[in-house]
Amino acid sequence: MLTVWRNFIKGSEEIMAEIFNCMDMPLLMETDILVVGGGSAGCLAAMSAGQQGENSVLLIERYGFLGGSSTQMLDTFYGFFTPGDSPRKVVAGLPGQVVDVLDGTGDIFLRANTYGAGTGVNYNPERLKLVWDQLLQQAGVKVALHTSLVGVEKMEQEGILCVVWHKSGFYKIKASRVIDASGDADFCHLAGYAYEKAGEVAAAQSMTTTFRMSNVDLDQFERAGGKNMLKEKMGLAVEQGRHPLPRKEGSAHAMCQVGCISTVAVKVGHLDPLNVFEMSQAEEEGRRQAFILEKFFQDDVPGYERASIIGLSHQIGVRETRRVYGEARLDKEGCMSGRAVNDSIFLCGAPIEDHRQGANGEDETYWQYIPGGGVYGVSYQTTVPQGSEQVWVAGRCFSATHEAHASCRSMAQTMAMGQATGLAAVLSLQYGESARDLDVKRLQEGLVDRGAILELPEKPADISREGWGKSID
Ligand SMILES: Cc1cc2nc3c(=O)[nH]c(=O)nc-3n(C[C@H](O)[C@H](O)[C@H](O)COP(=O)(O)OP(=O)(O)OC[C@H]3O[C@@H](n4cnc5c(N)ncnc54)[C@H](O)[C@@H]3O)c2cc1C
Repeated sequence: MLTVWRNFIKGSEEIMAEIFNCMDMPLLMETDILVVGGGSAGCLAAMSAGQQGENSVLLIERYGFLGGSSTQMLDTFYGFFTPGDSPRKVVAGLPGQVVDVLDGTGDIFLRANTYGAGTGVNYNPERLKLVWDQLLQQAGVKVALHTSLVGVEKMEQEGILCVVWHKSGFYKIKASRVIDASGDADFCHLAGYAYEKAGEVAAAQSMTTTFRMSNVDLDQFERAGGKNMLKEKMGLAVEQGRHPLPRKEGSAHAMCQVGCISTVAVKVGHLDPLNVFEMSQAEEEGRRQAFILEKFFQDDVPGYERASIIGLSHQIGVRETRRVYGEARLDKEGCMSGRAVNDSIFLCGAPIEDHRQGANGEDETYWQYIPGGGVYGVSYQTTVPQGSEQVWVAGRCFSATHEAHASCRSMAQTMAMGQATGLAAVLSLQYGESARDLDVKRLQEGLVDRGAILELPEKPADISREGWGKSID
């Protein structure tokens, strides 16, 4: 029998599990590997597992498209390159192949940065939706869109019985292995694994509705002072009470589409994304702030006079909710050590980037860099929920403290985590090993064979605008 750690007495999840037990639900599918959530971690986990061709792989996603935050609200992969004067490319393998495909159709450019989270890979998020579809098809993954995990009925050695909901009704799915890549650790929550809820120990990061504007004259914007001018204008707008902006700084950057920009400037704190009405309030507040920002851009920022919002993010961006307690936990000391651990499955060189809610907008993002432009390695055991034999967690709900999470949540890292957990699930089935007792050396060799980087490359990367292909090691 599996060891399941209950961290509640009798919550609605247990009551639901009992109700589901009594219901006569059809079996949607029996699968070797079930991936819950089609974000950057889940897509990569499914791709990685599917590509081995040994097992059936099913991915369920509650929305009608894949990519999670990567396509719901964002347009820049961070974490591929380290920040600093001598940037290194620290993530490759399958995550790199996703970017290669986008590069092939002219749908990326590098946004060189020696500060912040380092150089970003800007991509066309609409194209990325198509790319995720194609890559998963090629990997032989069965995809169930508009399908949400709502219950975990039984956790037994011979199979985990999950309950999903689709408009046509409730169904069961039986899986030998499960990768929870739901971002919110929904599977782990429903199965009773232990986790920390953001905000319980340290203040949770704020939420952000992103938006895109078209008809921006970027040349005029740059001639007027670009990024520095924008920061100055935002500060003045707040100080002079011209526009009630949520914060004094924020990112407004060019997209792949000509004349379009994407912003990360809305800030919604002190609301719980796991509470029905607070999350509804957050969505409303995010939209309200977005249109305040639109007016500010039109009135105050050269180049934006004739620009307007053409799209809000599909939902407000949620940075953290549940963070599972794993067999190991990444903490701030681990990040700042700048060292790889023996069982590292990927590298991260991104600083701690903690978006906190300031009372008057003056308390902005808190940054702390890894000393010496270094990188740290992330332990395999941070992807294994405590006591787990058949379950992994990948992506932003992996086992990390609040601060460590604020460093290790960029999409290059969540994709790398996906690649590692997907392969781990396959190896676990192949060799009959449990998640926590998996032969990690074999996993590491498999990852390196498939292009993953587990040691800091000596050669600095080319981070020029067109430098993606040139910075392949
Ligand atoms: C506002 C904001 C800005 C950010 N900026 C950047 C940036 O510029 N660059 C960068 O690299 N990173 C950025 N990040 C961080 C990064 O986007 C995330 O940490 C990362 O994308 C998380 O990936 P994930 O796959 O773990 O989760 P997600 O992308 O959240 O994917 C989870 C998926 O699971 C699905 N799902 C959830 N519950 C269920 C369920 N019960 N059943 C079925 N499906 C379910 C969701 O619909 C979603 O598709 C930002 C995050 C936010 C919120």
